[in-house]
Amino acid sequence: MVTVRTNTLTTMPALGLGTWELEGSEARESVADALALGYRHIDTARAYGNEREVGEALRDAGVARDEVWVTTKVWRDDLEPDRLRRSAEASLKDLGLDRVDLLLVHWPNPAVRLGDTLAALHRVRQDGLTRHIGVSNFPSNLLREAVSEFPIFCNQVEYHPYLDQRKVLDAAHAHRITVTAYSPLGSGGLLRDAVLGEIAESRGCTTAQVVLRWLLDQSGVAAIPRASSHDHRAENLAALEQAPLTYEERARIDTLANGRRFIDPSFAPAWD
Ligand code: NAP
Repeated sequence: MVTVRTNTLTTMPALGLGTWELEGSEARESVADALALGYRHIDTARAYGNEREVGEALRDAGVARDEVWVTTKVWRDDLEPDRLRRSAEASLKDLGLDRVDLLLVHWPNPAVRLGDTLAALHRVRQDGLTRHIGVSNFPSNLLREAVSEFPIFCNQVEYHPYLDQRKVLDAAHAHRITVTAYSPLGSGGLLRDAVLGEIAESRGCTTAQVVLRWLLDQSGVAAIPRASSHDHRAENLAALEQAPLTYEERARIDTLANGRRFIDPSFAPAWD
């Protein structure tokens, strides 16, 4: 399994399965099938409402616990220290796990002092509920503020060829923080791109695989595509085995950046 080496020398599988909007039996079957295919990294969140099904699939898969990386997240309404701990405990209960590998602040919330949230997250880690802690949707200024309080393992942000995340990447790399690319396929929105399609055709692969290679070829970057179909899950995992993009292919893809975000709720922070 290809991994991303991180600031704690832990390695996180570079390709994971995203589970946003997968619910009930679809969540359980998607995670079970992903684990059978060889995925060893599952991304969920308290807010996705599927931790119970993710946990069932993990137990049924018969894969040793220490071979699967499980990330979950605390919703932005639960960033006060007591609520954060209760959210982490509820996640573990639903997942049926003693601890997760990574617990993230799902979105920043200016109503709660960041230092208080991070101190609570740090305590939860010290108490063994999670191996690592991190943040999500933190622009570069907030990421620097977070790092000045406590070591952070990961920042999970929207990232794909349409969205230049150089500022976030520079801030993360300066502190050897992993960047996990969420919505790596733009929630599907990149898959009809003509340039990506031409590159895919010339390489004899699919557009999704070109996008995933573009991400996985970058040092310190992981990606968590969601796929509800078996064929898409298999196709995305196979991207790990493909050759890196050429300089010319990367240069063409780099011209596609247009600032397009697919995830931009009203409570989003001021982006870079
Ligand atoms: P995504 O992974 O960018 O795209 C998923 C869409 O692409 C689905 O419609 C899927 O279709 C399709 N797809 C996947 N593989 C494909 C393939 N090989 N060929 C053709 N179509 C393919 O979407 P996302 O769910 O927005 O992002 C991925 C994960 O990131 C989420 O599930 C979640 O875990 C995480 N995330 C985190 C945050 C955050 O705030 N931290 C926000 C958004 C997402 P099928 O379902 O039909 O296979």
